[in-house]
Amino acid sequence: MNIGLFGGTFDPIHRGHLALAREAQGRCKLHRIYFVPANIPPHKQRQPLSPFLHRFAMVALATAQDKAFVPSLLEAPEENGPIRGSQNKSHQDKPNYTIDTVRQLKQSFKSNDKLFLLIGMDAFADIAKWHEAEEVFRECEFIVANRPGYSLADVANALPESLRPRPELTKLFQKQAANGDLVLKGATIHLLGDLRQPASATAIRQATAAGKPLSRFVDAPVAEYIKKMGLYK
Ligand code: ATP
Repeated sequence: MNIGLFGGTFDPIHRGHLALAREAQGRCKLHRIYFVPANIPPHKQRQPLSPFLHRFAMVALATAQDKAFVPSLLEAPEENGPIRGSQNKSHQDKPNYTIDTVRQLKQSFKSNDKLFLLIGMDAFADIAKWHEAEEVFRECEFIVANRPGYSLADVANALPESLRPRPELTKLFQKQAANGDLVLKGATIHLLGDLRQPASATAIRQATAAGKPLSRFVDAPVAEYIKKMGLYK
């Protein structure tokens, strides 16, 4: 089976995320996609986040209607996760590194299962800074959703140095839109065109604080949840 892993802060999950997942599902024939809210996202530690439980609840609501979309507790804080040993504080505060999540998920894989990591281009631009980035590329193929303004050269330049194509080749990529498949030694990247879904969690938090409607960003169950729980005020 082809299995997708879609990590994020999901504070909150919105139509941009769902559009990415649907497009990725069609493109790479994914049988299942795990939506994995991070308890402690390594790259967003300065921003105050909503509690994990709220972010997970919204992911569960947003994915409820789609059989292939699975809300995942793989990056839950220990007390909310499956029984997993110690409640040690320092362990709890550890950021959720994708490589650990990937390895944990793959433990349940059958021999012909294949893992694809879903990600937007803005997040992919920082991929070289990820913990054990080369290993992540070794463990799974990437599905990257383009965002306005990025070229194929930006995708190539974002790779960890050891995986980047030769500079002559990257130069040729400069005028090419990020589309199609990029197959390199050590990295396979499927590029989705711009999804034209301008939703962002930041815009939703701002709209909520300003008392504006959320219907263009999220479906009714998530909008209701935000209202009921008084999030983002
Ligand atoms: P924030 O506005 O708080 O930075 P966000 O809307 O980017 O949040 P995240 O949970 O940080 O949401 O994103 C998870 C993943 O979804 C990232 O890989 C990001 O690039 C991607 N993503 C977010 N919004 C969109 C969108 N509108 N279209 C395509 N991909 C998106």
